[in-house]
Amino acid sequence: MSETNLRPSSISATVDFNAAGIQHGFLRLPYSRDDSAWGSVMIPISVIKNGEGPTVLLTGGNHGDEYEGPIALFDLARTLQAEVVSGRVIIVPAMNYPAFAAETRTSPIDKGNMNRSFPGRPDGTVTQKIADYFQRTLLPLADIVLDFHSGGKTLDFLPFCAAHILQDKDQERKGFEFVEAFGAPYSMKMLEIDAVGMYDTAAEEMGKIFVTTELGGGGTATALSAAIAKRGVMNVLKRAGVVSGEIDHKPTQWLDMPDSDCFIFSESAGLAEFSVDLGERVRKGDVVVKIHPVGRTGEPPVGLVAKIDGILAARHFPGLIKQGDCAAVIAQ
Ligand code: ZN
Repeated sequence: MSETNLRPSSISATVDFNAAGIQHGFLRLPYSRDDSAWGSVMIPISVIKNGEGPTVLLTGGNHGDEYEGPIALFDLARTLQAEVVSGRVIIVPAMNYPAFAAETRTSPIDKGNMNRSFPGRPDGTVTQKIADYFQRTLLPLADIVLDFHSGGKTLDFLPFCAAHILQDKDQERKGFEFVEAFGAPYSMKMLEIDAVGMYDTAAEEMGKIFVTTELGGGGTATALSAAIAKRGVMNVLKRAGVVSGEIDHKPTQWLDMPDSDCFIFSESAGLAEFSVDLGERVRKGDVVVKIHPVGRTGEPPVGLVAKIDGILAARHFPGLIKQGDCAAVIAQ
């Protein structure tokens, strides 16, 4: 760790992480700017603590345009009673609050992508300061971490809960047990292609059980995806033993993303016409999406083909696609 990382965080919590009961407050990050000389970014946080037991850290809005997490977590923060808790639940419904408020993936303040900003910097940008606070204050408090994601405005996913394939097989097995408990329609064993800077990696390197989701996308939530998120978070709390009661088990289909052949990137720009919808089967060599050139009439489309057999697990969401965009993900 470099010298600068030893500085105290400028973020202060208005909640006491060791106090029993229910507290609703903020992580206050001083942010001096044109419209507020001594202003702050105020990130809502709830702490519900009672008796003995593990600490579960629940986060949404790591990316600001993904909504199932914030829906489930604002709801949980409002409804979870201290009497039913054995241990501690820390809820941050919108981790990158400036991005959430702007309905954008990254922060409008510094363009920071929270999930590429770890371990963060106490003397860095607003996004780096939030990452540093999670790295050095919140993650060390946690035993189990559930971080909600979905596709945002530019991707759409089959609803799945996921954990990573890890070198520590005991840690990996515990992660998959929590994925199973979450009970999304699909469960994914994820191999991360580029894990540097991720919140996931930061938590896993501390030995925490880390579970994540992709629950839909398109910059909105559906009735179904919101219900999956709400049920899943309660199931995780029950699996952790922090809330008593039976896990609401639902059948789940396990999927694998074995290697980079899962991903189909577009080498051209144009109008995307999918040949299959999410959840449908494809075979190696099938055209998954046709990219129609839109600069002039009379030009043939470019067909993007599956490199493996599987099902369509994720797709580009907007109608127009740019060169280099991820067009589709095929899972097995
Ligand atoms: Zn995300």
